[in-house]
Amino acid sequence: MRLCRFGNGRLGVVDGDRLRDVTAALDSLPNYRHPLPGFDVLIANLDALRPAIEAAARQAPSVPLAGMTLLSPVANPGKLIGAPVNYQQHLDEVLENPDLHHGNQVPVIQRAGLFLKATSSLVGAGEGITLRKPDRRTDHEVELAFVIGKPASRVARADALDYVAGYCIGLDISIRGPEERSLRKSPDTYSVLGPWLVTADEIPDPGALELRLSVNGQVRQQSNTSDLILGVAELVEYASSFYTLYPGDVVFTGTPAGVGPIQPGDILIACIDKIGTMQVDVRADSL
Ligand code: MN
Repeated sequence: MRLCRFGNGRLGVVDGDRLRDVTAALDSLPNYRHPLPGFDVLIANLDALRPAIEAAARQAPSVPLAGMTLLSPVANPGKLIGAPVNYQQHLDEVLENPDLHHGNQVPVIQRAGLFLKATSSLVGAGEGITLRKPDRRTDHEVELAFVIGKPASRVARADALDYVAGYCIGLDISIRGPEERSLRKSPDTYSVLGPWLVTADEIPDPGALELRLSVNGQVRQQSNTSDLILGVAELVEYASSFYTLYPGDVVFTGTPAGVGPIQPGDILIACIDKIGTMQVDVRADSL
C-alpha cells in the first residue's frame, strides 16, 4: 500500500497516477489527549487501521495525483535520524574535497555514528525546499529513508526489518561548513520525505534498490542500496542499541556519491525503485 498525505492534512492511498482520499479512516484512531504521545499516532496504529483505510479506498472516487500538494507521509515523527557517509564512494569524494569536509574529521560510519535532524525541518515533495542561507553552499543528498513501525530497543539484526513500517525517498539537504551536522541539516524544509510511504510488505529486500537524483534534467547521483555500508537492518540494530526507536521515527540511510549544490529555481527529480519518483522545487527565501 502506498499512503500519502496531501492538501490540508488529508490522507490518501496512491494507485498509479491516481489517489483515493481515505481521510475518513483517521476517525478510527484512538482519541489521544494532552500530553500527546511523542510518536506518530497514524504510523503506530497503521496495522490496526489498515482495514478501515482499505474500506475507505473502496468507496472513494479516484482523482489524479497531478496537481496535489504532497506533504510528508509521516506527520509527527519523534526523531529524524541521519546516517553520515554510508556509501564508500561518497566517503571518498568527501575526503578528497575540502569544500565538503571543511577540515571536519570524516570517519567511517561505524566510528561517526548517527546524527539527528530537527523534526521541524520535515516537508513533503509538494512543499519544496526554501534555501535559508543563500550565501552558503547547500547540497542535495538523495537517500533511501525508512519509517519505524513499532517501538524498537536493542533489536537484533535478524529481526530488524520487522520493525520497519515502510519506505520513502528522502532528501537530506545540507549546508556545507564547519558547524555540527545537526545545525547545518536542520533548517526548515531541509528534510524532504516522499512522495508517499510504501508499506514494508511491498519491499521485502530494501538492499537492492536503484536510486537516482537529477537536477534540471541532469543526473547527479545514481547508485544502488546494495552499496550501503550499513544497510537498513544494520541501521535499526545500531540505532536501537543507543536509544528506543518509536513509530514514525524516520531514518535517512545516507547518500551516495555525486552530491552538489542547488540554487533557487532548480527542479530536483528523485527516484527509487519500488517507491516512485518525486519532483521537488528549490526556491529562495522570501526574506
Ligand atoms: Mn545525508
